[in-house]
Amino acid sequence: TAAHPHDTELADRARRVIPGGVNSGQRSIPGLADLVITAADGARFTDSTGREYVDYHAAFGPPLLGHNDPDVTAAVAAAGRTLDLCGVGVTPGEIDLAEQLCELVPSLEQVLLTSTGSEATFHALRVARAATGRRLVVKFQGCYHGWHDSVSLNVISAPDRVGRHDPISTGILPEVLDATLVLPFNDIEAVRAAFTEHGADIAAVIVEPVPHNVGCLLPDTGFLQALRDETSRHGSVLVFDEVITGFRHALGGWQQLSGITPDLTTLGKAIANGYPVGALGGRADLMQLFSTTPGAPAFFAGTYNGHPAVVAAALATLRKLRTEPVHEHVFALGDRIRAGLTDVFAELNLPAVVTGYGSVFVSYLMSGPVPRTYADLLRNDVGMFIGYRRRLAEHGVFELPLNLKRSHVSYAHTADDADRLVEATRTAVRDTLAAGGIDQLAGTSTMGGADAHR
Ligand code: PMP
Repeated sequence: TAAHPHDTELADRARRVIPGGVNSGQRSIPGLADLVITAADGARFTDSTGREYVDYHAAFGPPLLGHNDPDVTAAVAAAGRTLDLCGVGVTPGEIDLAEQLCELVPSLEQVLLTSTGSEATFHALRVARAATGRRLVVKFQGCYHGWHDSVSLNVISAPDRVGRHDPISTGILPEVLDATLVLPFNDIEAVRAAFTEHGADIAAVIVEPVPHNVGCLLPDTGFLQALRDETSRHGSVLVFDEVITGFRHALGGWQQLSGITPDLTTLGKAIANGYPVGALGGRADLMQLFSTTPGAPAFFAGTYNGHPAVVAAALATLRKLRTEPVHEHVFALGDRIRAGLTDVFAELNLPAVVTGYGSVFVSYLMSGPVPRTYADLLRNDVGMFIGYRRRLAEHGVFELPLNLKRSHVSYAHTADDADRLVEATRTAVRDTLAAGGIDQLAGTSTMGGADAHR
């Protein structure tokens, strides 16, 4: 729009040589097709027209300390002066990082580094199949575990049955999709029924302990315990995908907070404040199955795994998380924002559920109670959800204008930033209501709205 000029010339260059003009499926956002980002610092990023935004999108979650954290940046630069990739042996930084991860995350006896979260979940499922000799994987509606075939199922299909589901992509073999069962989150009975019918064939259950890929569904007391009980009883591998929850909610992840210990854990995002690091860790007997051990059956490799620069970023991030009141700060700001937003929606008389955990917040435009399952989220008013977020950007506050996306607070956000978000939301919601509560572009997402997550 005229009020919000973007840089069409640069974006056009991008579209000529990059399919869709962006490098990840969920970066093409209706209305933001010409957005070119040129700088980021602390709680803010700047686009190529010089416009600055307070950033609550936070790149889908990594920069828990804020963008370009000076200590992380300095650690990466220092690593670059002494060491880079040699691709043989191990480096002291990798040893230090693995020791800290095993110390911090309850399920980790051993750990391997990857470059992304998707690689970590891929290898978790591969080794679960290698260990059990079984075929099936169970996942849950609303959970995203990366782009690879076993987990690339449309999360909204068949809300209440066990069975086949639409792939998120073409090009996936049907026999791979048939090997994944999708169950409703928080539904203990559905889990028991799946184990009763298929237990002897279930290699793994993979779950986001808090499904943040649809905003925030908190696990009922007993649900994660039921997963632990059923997988133990049937000899299946329980995988907690803590790519989002790890480090952000607690140094030991949701497993530390819930007291429930999975067999394997996948990590990423906040582990290195935005540098590309993922990790897969867990029970030593499972981790020993990887071909990093002589004669082991499960192949694991990666040219960039444990790159000294990103390992330095992870070590600097963990040092800061361990020595500074990062969690205290982001939890307090998260509470301040949730309280402020709750008041705004009440004042405007608009049904909303403001929820989240710690630094993560999301406002669903629907009446209560707090959603427990993905099916509950079908009540979210997509036009309103996207409409007011699009207007927020015009006030220099950025929450991703895409259905069901969560937002994140970082250590670099201030109480003033939080109050500015609340005030901008008041205006943006009021203006969206005045416009009829409908956003023209809301239904036109190239990714099919809620179907795809990251
Ligand atoms: N697991 C979860 C829970 C995620 O949210 C994501 C990405 N958003 C992934 C795995 C995949 O991680 P990556 O994008 O780094 O491959």
